[in-house]
Amino acid sequence: MSYDLVVIGGGPAGYVGAIRAAQLGKKVAVVEVERAGGTCLNWGCIPTKALLKNAELYRQIQHAADFGITVGKVEVDFAKVMGRSRGVADQMAKGIEYLFKSKKVDYFVGKGQVTKDKKVTVTAADGKSQTLEAKNILLSTGCVPRLLPGLKADGQKILTSREALALKERPESIVILGAGAIGVEFAYFFNAFGTKVTLVELQPQILPLEDTEVSSLLVKSFAKEGIEVLAETKVEKAETTAKGVKITTGGKEAKTIEAAALLVAIGIQANLDGVLAEGLSVELDRGFVKTNDRYQTSVPGLYAAGDLIGAPWLAHVASHEAIEAVEGMFVAGKKPHKITVFPGCTYCQPQVASIGLTEKKAKEQKIAYKVGKFPYKASGKAVAAGEPEGFIKLIVGEKYGEILGAHIIGTEATELIAELGLAITLEATLDEITATIHAHPTLSEMVGEAALAAKGIPIHI
Ligand SMILES: Cc1cc2nc3c(=O)[nH]c(=O)nc-3n(C[C@H](O)[C@H](O)[C@H](O)COP(=O)(O)OP(=O)(O)OC[C@H]3O[C@@H](n4cnc5c(N)ncnc54)[C@H](O)[C@@H]3O)c2cc1C
Repeated sequence: MSYDLVVIGGGPAGYVGAIRAAQLGKKVAVVEVERAGGTCLNWGCIPTKALLKNAELYRQIQHAADFGITVGKVEVDFAKVMGRSRGVADQMAKGIEYLFKSKKVDYFVGKGQVTKDKKVTVTAADGKSQTLEAKNILLSTGCVPRLLPGLKADGQKILTSREALALKERPESIVILGAGAIGVEFAYFFNAFGTKVTLVELQPQILPLEDTEVSSLLVKSFAKEGIEVLAETKVEKAETTAKGVKITTGGKEAKTIEAAALLVAIGIQANLDGVLAEGLSVELDRGFVKTNDRYQTSVPGLYAAGDLIGAPWLAHVASHEAIEAVEGMFVAGKKPHKITVFPGCTYCQPQVASIGLTEKKAKEQKIAYKVGKFPYKASGKAVAAGEPEGFIKLIVGEKYGEILGAHIIGTEATELIAELGLAITLEATLDEITATIHAHPTLSEMVGEAALAAKGIPIHI
């Protein structure tokens, strides 16, 4: 069979790129070895958000008395909590398979490999193989979690995010190594259900890429909830014991910790396992596939998009990269670009969301800026909802008042960030934001108030 485009990997990069190519009238195939939707739908964004919803609900029930509601004995069926998450993932993956049919994308289940003469072989689980002819190939095989040297995930004591999403029983205690979004979300989830959590991070702050004030507030909030955070701390030794794991840390918090399990969330590496036939190789940059502005690899006709081309490792970025790559292939005159401004979200409670420059980055780049900040506790909607913790912080150009960055910690932060993303895309200034009437009472009013604060004329603080 012959195609305009064969995509290897059916995650947010691969399936979105394939659908876009089909919309452009191209004959497209997707090859996926596991399940449509990739890490995001099956083992990442979606199943974790399902678990976090359970955690939030449980927390709300525990605080029901604050709202005048008396609840009887509350019990948690952990296996059902996990089962719901798997069910949600399954439903979403089926949705992608349906989209392939409706958008006329041919879907092949099997392991894809690019041959030396740039065809794609698809080897199914039963060993049967077929070859697809391809004018263009898009590699979107994603990444796999990184473990510490010498450690092997066993699904019980040593876990990566994948094994953590398939646990049948809740560990009594867990050490989570790495306080990026994945580590932080699992810390919140396990703690909410009663697991003793120790979160270990090498960098001086948890969520190292976020605004320092945001990270500090999250540490305070986690401490209140009983999560132990060890920043500037390195795991020097990790070993399994009869009961679980024994972790020796060095740096700021040198100690020995015994726990039922260790979850390693220190990062990911490009998944190129068997993707290229022997003798075929692509240029890498620090372990990730190197691409130019058109998402072309060092091999002509072979493109790459998504996690395997390097940071930021986010589903929405992966999808946008694939759209850029595909439009670059098939739309005359299209000049694809690399994605530079994108939101980053962490779905613990309080939620964290940001876009654009942090204050630290603005300082490093010697940009003249001002800050506008508004606290959740001054928002009627936040207080009415019983969620007064958090703030919105805008980083604004000193001269023109353009939005350079936005940082939100608090309930629904991950939804609120969208307005500020649009503001940055439209190069909006404080004037446009303050001229926009936000409905009352909403959390989004805080965006307008933070903009007023940056002008020095806040109404409610
Ligand atoms: C626990 C966790 C939580 C996350 N939460 C979020 C979040 O909230 N928001 C967010 O934006 N991002 C989140 N991410 C990151 C997000 O999942 C990734 O950025 C996104 O999935 C990358 O998409 P991709 O298409 O590049 O790769 P993937 O989604 O990894 O897809 C790659 C696909 O390629 C397939 N494949 C690999 N090799 C072959 C082969 N040889 N032949 C055929 N198929 C192959 C794989 O089976 C896989 O389905 C999370 C990740 C994890 C692990």
